[in-house]
Amino acid sequence: MTSWQELLKNSITTVDDLAVHLECPVNDLAAVTAKYPMRINSYYLELIKKFGDPLHRQAVPDKRELTRTTGMRDPLAEETLSPVSGLVHKYPDRVLLLVNHECAMYCRFCTRKRALGNRKIYMDTHRLQEACAYLRATPQVREVLVSGGDPLLLSDERLEWILTRLREISNIEIIRIGSRVPCTLPMRITSNLCSVLKRFHPLYINTHFNHPAEITAEATRACAMLADAGIPLGCQTVLLKGINNDAEILAALFRKLLSMRVKPYYLFQTDLTLGTDHFRTRVEDGLAIMRQLIGHISGMAVPTFALDAPGGGGKIPLTPQYIRNYGDVLQFVNYQGKSCRYPNPPAEESRQN
Ligand SMILES: *Cc1c(COP(=O)(O)O)cnc(C)c1O
Ligand code: SF4
Repeated sequence: MTSWQELLKNSITTVDDLAVHLECPVNDLAAVTAKYPMRINSYYLELIKKFGDPLHRQAVPDKRELTRTTGMRDPLAEETLSPVSGLVHKYPDRVLLLVNHECAMYCRFCTRKRALGNRKIYMDTHRLQEACAYLRATPQVREVLVSGGDPLLLSDERLEWILTRLREISNIEIIRIGSRVPCTLPMRITSNLCSVLKRFHPLYINTHFNHPAEITAEATRACAMLADAGIPLGCQTVLLKGINNDAEILAALFRKLLSMRVKPYYLFQTDLTLGTDHFRTRVEDGLAIMRQLIGHISGMAVPTFALDAPGGGGKIPLTPQYIRNYGDVLQFVNYQGKSCRYPNPPAEESRQN
């Protein structure tokens, strides 16, 4: 069996290579890959060949990435919210730590597409020590989200070193890793990796699947190994035009994730990232999809639909409106569209103990 390192090394990265492997027009795409790199490994390539558009659009460059739109280079203002390089501190009790700039695939809609694929090591030992010093000096931080790029593309030894440094900080209670490899390179989940990760509990992993066709035997095996190592798994899906903006597709995805012991966590409205406008749906359309999911499928399978506010405002939960009327008798509409009522206790009484 080919190792994950070899699969990664043999990925398609040039337009000429792409034309050989996928019968698709590649005119004008070299200008796109010069700005935003491409990487498609043979595992995901086979899925593209088998399932077509919904996977093709996630991985294959599109010349619309170069059109000037409403998008911004750094829509979440991550660069201005960095007290030390590679660390984003936006919320009071948790930080984002960006440990590398590499992914198993370069998703065309990525929020950090400005930064990905450049090979310089983002978080070298010196910078990581600076980040740890900041965390030690900032005791209100209880949780570190290790992200990138994709942290699970680092070697087991490097990851172990980073996790060891984080576990030495007494205020850090929770470690959360964000990784798309269970979807884009599931062979990366090896038993050695799992035995490293399980030493750093409580450790959570949020992965990223966007379409039911991505739930393969290999992905199922990878998630089972992580779950068997005691790692609670979540999924952050991005709502993408022409890929998954459909209630039936998302219902199938979320049910399959739940069967793999992956809890759908967020469904994100596409960020205002430069070069990704062709993926954006209207917020109302996402809300309509949520209405078709809530109550109709297991509540465990329903993520929070959210928008990450431009400029670093944080995540805004977007929920369909079920309340028709506030007051002494609340009026609701349920998932079937029927009205329901609930008598509210009088305000004075409910505020006493
Ligand atoms: C999304 C995000 C988090 C985590 O938010 P949760 O709602 O806890 O998942 C933390 N920091 C930054 C900068 C983020 O963008
Ligand atoms: S794996 Fe995640 S970070 Fe990497 S390109 Fe895809 S969306 Fe962006």
